[in-house]
Amino acid sequence: MSDNNLFEKIISHAKEYGFVFPSSDIYGGLAAVYDYGQNGVELRNNLRQFWYLSMTRLHANIVGLDSSIFMHPKIWKASGHVDGFNDPMIDNKDSKKRYRADVLIEEHQEKIRQKIAKEVTKAATRFGDSFDETQFRQTNPRVMEYQERIDTMNGILKTALESGDLNQIKELIESEGIVCPISGSKNWTDVRQFNLMYSTQMNALEGADEDLYLRPETAQGIFVNFLNVQKTGRMKLPFGIAQTGKAFRNEIVARQFIMRMKEFEQMEMQFFCKPGTELQWYEYWKQWRMRWHGVLGTDEKKLRFHDHVKLAHYANAAVDIEYDFPFGFKEVEGIHSRTDFDLSQHEQFSGKKLRYFDAEANESYIPYVVETSIGLDRLFLVVMSEALQEEEVNGDTRTVLKLPPALAPIKCAILPLVKKDGLPELAEKIYEALRFDFNTFIEDKDSIGKRYRRMDAIGTPFCVTVDHDSLTQGDVTIRYRDTMEQERVPIDSLREIIEAATSMKTLLKQI
Ligand code: ATP
Repeated sequence: MSDNNLFEKIISHAKEYGFVFPSSDIYGGLAAVYDYGQNGVELRNNLRQFWYLSMTRLHANIVGLDSSIFMHPKIWKASGHVDGFNDPMIDNKDSKKRYRADVLIEEHQEKIRQKIAKEVTKAATRFGDSFDETQFRQTNPRVMEYQERIDTMNGILKTALESGDLNQIKELIESEGIVCPISGSKNWTDVRQFNLMYSTQMNALEGADEDLYLRPETAQGIFVNFLNVQKTGRMKLPFGIAQTGKAFRNEIVARQFIMRMKEFEQMEMQFFCKPGTELQWYEYWKQWRMRWHGVLGTDEKKLRFHDHVKLAHYANAAVDIEYDFPFGFKEVEGIHSRTDFDLSQHEQFSGKKLRYFDAEANESYIPYVVETSIGLDRLFLVVMSEALQEEEVNGDTRTVLKLPPALAPIKCAILPLVKKDGLPELAEKIYEALRFDFNTFIEDKDSIGKRYRRMDAIGTPFCVTVDHDSLTQGDVTIRYRDTMEQERVPIDSLREIIEAATSMKTLLKQI
């Protein structure tokens, strides 16, 4: 499948098989808002659970939290979101489409990177075994010129964003000849800043309150609870607090399906440590989180680190983990060394001390923080992009979702071969016995071949067929999703077979 086709296929497959529906579909949908269907919710819950367990159970010093979406409005003043949570926007006057100016530039750079990659591949074929890629990149005039263009753009973007000089960004877009993907024209407006937070009111009485904001990130709920957790949990530095929950951003450029939504879910962990040790922990979390993605079966060639061009005002180091989506490399997760910025700001704005008493050093200080922040919906898209495959089987095309079994929405389907002779009754008995342990499905409609294909399409790792021999011999046919191999096994052994392959423990132990 070409990348474009793959992306289209993922979107239509997600809808057709009950993974993701456009929100308010019968009313024509709501831009950049999506609902998860019967299979999507299972996959998403499994991903969330895997993240949560891996962060908390595998780290004795990390605990959970579930803070509210509504928070005191001052929190967003303190965090810098009221004044600084902006994106630079630019409109194309011909198509009337609005874009994030920095994203337009990044996408333009990506095209140049692809040209570099083409040169490298060409040279590698030409030189064969003696090819030295590093030397080629450092000496080939065309590649050097491309790379220099990218570096110069990064330099300009960085200074422009840091100084807030938005004209420079517009000039860069013009000098690079970047065109609107819709109209193909270079007829751009000026670049302007746009705040991404949604506001609402807490009380019915007008003017009774300041505006509330729907949280644009879950992290601040962790910071304002830092001392509550530390004191009541008698936590010693270094320690972490992990939480998952909804966040809201008024993303103007909402495209690419569940990649960029207005309402989405984050899974964030803030790791509190002694000042001066943060860069060590930053390095630790960078490596650990990359390993974590590998355990989910994501092709390691499709994952990369991307250092931030411009560090946020609160960070002294920041990197993204990017995945090569069908539409190119894009951020899935951010790892940020946030210094003591957030806790210091909350101390100042709340007037309450947010310090840790270090008994060994006999002093109090504000801890430093390293954050890992991943979007659950983007992770969902990574997993779908990796898993969705089409295979030729006896001249036919089989669509199969090769999800890691622990993440599969349904672990096992019980399928009586025919709807008579006591087979449905035996199938029901097996189903009753397994459903307490696994999300199990039972179905007797349609031919067995059709039922297998439907289970393949939603990623069910095991299909169990109950036939006439099952009644007398107490065994069934188990079919494996990926190989389509079939095997006769005793009914009594089903639980053990399914457990061994689908338990989240198996994944957790691999990290
Ligand atoms: P981007 O540059 O793509 O807008 P960001 O740098 O603003 O992302 P962060 O603020 O670091 O993102 O948020 C952490 C994670 O939350 C991101 O890595 C991403 O997975 C997820 N995320 C952020 N915004 C969205 C969104 N609008 N829709 C879905 N997921 C999102």
